[in-house]
Amino acid sequence: MAVPTPHHNRLSAPERPRHRPSDRPGSHRTRQALPPLSAPATRWEMSPRTWIAAQRNRKKIDRASRVEADESEKPATLTICRSNIRRHAMNRRNLSQHSSPPHPQRKMQVKNHFLSPNEIADEPEPFSTLVSTIRACRICRDQPCYGLPLDHEPRPILQASEMARICIASQAPGIRAHESGRPFDDPSGVRLRQWLGMNEEEFYDPSMVAIVPMSFCFPGLSPSGGDLPPRRECAEVWRRRLFARLPTLALLLVVGGYAHRWHFGSTFAGKGVNETVRAWRQIYRADPSLLRLPLPHPSWHNNRWLKQNPWFESELLPTLRANIRALFP
Ligand code: SF4
Repeated sequence: MAVPTPHHNRLSAPERPRHRPSDRPGSHRTRQALPPLSAPATRWEMSPRTWIAAQRNRKKIDRASRVEADESEKPATLTICRSNIRRHAMNRRNLSQHSSPPHPQRKMQVKNHFLSPNEIADEPEPFSTLVSTIRACRICRDQPCYGLPLDHEPRPILQASEMARICIASQAPGIRAHESGRPFDDPSGVRLRQWLGMNEEEFYDPSMVAIVPMSFCFPGLSPSGGDLPPRRECAEVWRRRLFARLPTLALLLVVGGYAHRWHFGSTFAGKGVNETVRAWRQIYRADPSLLRLPLPHPSWHNNRWLKQNPWFESELLPTLRANIRALFP
């Protein structure tokens, strides 16, 4: 007589289905293969973990489609306010998970805006027309090529004249400058004017100073509340064209990492703002026909850097002020 074992009523080893924990529904291996939303799977046909994951997936897609519908119904002139910008910044993050990369054809459209040196020389457009065209630009709202459209009405801010001797190549207007329409109309501007040794009257005189940011429009706020990087479309479309019309420049002040990379390229733009600004003597002496100086952004974000690098105030700024006084005695 066979002696009953504890396993006598179980399947024998070869017949027993072998399920590793990782093959079960809801595990990390099967999480990617969720049942499609239209599948007639009910709550009770799925494991609790699969059901929860499917619900999350469904909510995410519903939210994205709601945002898309909101965007299409957005009025042409959207009044900007901080809460509005933050809300759209959150929407931007959700949408970016569902948006496709820019189509290469659209990229080509922007590249067509580039002017070759010959075209710039032959271009009959008066300077004032060029500035008005820039002020009327809505590319980042209507035909964005890099990322999502601007979620507020663009307001290009620049200061330029063909006579300007100094140019401040900066980053992008902040929200205060966007609201007032004046560049550097914020605490960063106060510090920058102090660095230059200029009062407001001199600073905002276009016949003396041109202010040409990498992005003429406020780029919006990131979900964390900081400013987004300058719009790439702007430099591609306008920058060469505008600088070709500033023939009297004698001093170019390049503010912040984005402008460093554009104006100095790989020759001088180091691995970051710190390295580039440290190489200021080399940059300054490189081209006597147009003196160039790299500066960090004057915002409070750089307070620590300024404390750690006292040579900036004791060596670079006196050279900068001496050049400005030589241009405007
Ligand atoms: S950021 Fe530049 S390219 Fe974009 S809308 Fe403003 S002016 Fe036009």
